[in-house]
Amino acid sequence: MARRCPNCGQGPLFRGYLTVRSPCDVCGADNCIYPSDDFPPYLAILVVGHIVVPLFVWVERAYEPPMLVQAAIWVPLTVVLCLVLLPYMKGATIGLCWATNIVRQAPTP
Ligand SMILES: [Zn+2]
Repeated sequence: MARRCPNCGQGPLFRGYLTVRSPCDVCGADNCIYPSDDFPPYLAILVVGHIVVPLFVWVERAYEPPMLVQAAIWVPLTVVLCLVLLPYMKGATIGLCWATNIVRQAPTP
């Protein structure tokens, strides 16, 4: 989750927002071999959902604001939180794949 190379813990894992830097600048590990396809967005949505939905329900019950106000608050907050969490979740997924030795399979001819 530190967005560092899982092999050495020193080199940055990403080049830019979500592009995996490979090879690692410090240890030379190829971090592109770890699949992190759909799991990071799933994790980000799961975490953000557990933050936003209880807050939404609490605000709805406590203050009963108009639905347009609710949408103006929660939709942007949900999008921003997902985008902020996504690199951390992708780093965690790559670290999990590294720790459990899950790698991409070479395409079969
Ligand atoms: Zn490294």
